[in-house]
Amino acid sequence: MSVKDKIDCLKCGVCCYFFDISTLKKPALSPCKHLGEDGKCKDYENRPAVCRDFQPDEICVLISTLSFEDKIKVMKKVYGIE
Ligand code: SF4
Ligand code: SF4
Repeated sequence: MSVKDKIDCLKCGVCCYFFDISTLKKPALSPCKHLGEDGKCKDYENRPAVCRDFQPDEICVLISTLSFEDKIKVMKKVYGIE
């Protein structure tokens, strides 16, 4: 089973907060304007290519059971932020 089969980005939303997405004028560590409070994209059908191209990896599997806040903490460690 591939990572993609195990992970549902719609139940995560970390990328929509963590990364700098210039197409959306979204700075890093800031929620995208389209990110709903339920962690889902409110404009999913129209999301830009950069969002469509996000591919879950093993880190996504490791953090999948954590709270959103703890996922962000782990991502910061992985990417050497703070
Ligand atoms: S961190 Fe991984 S699972 Fe979460 S939205 Fe990004 S690619 Fe998807
Ligand atoms: S457009 Fe949607 S999928 Fe893309 S970063 Fe914003 S909330 Fe996430």
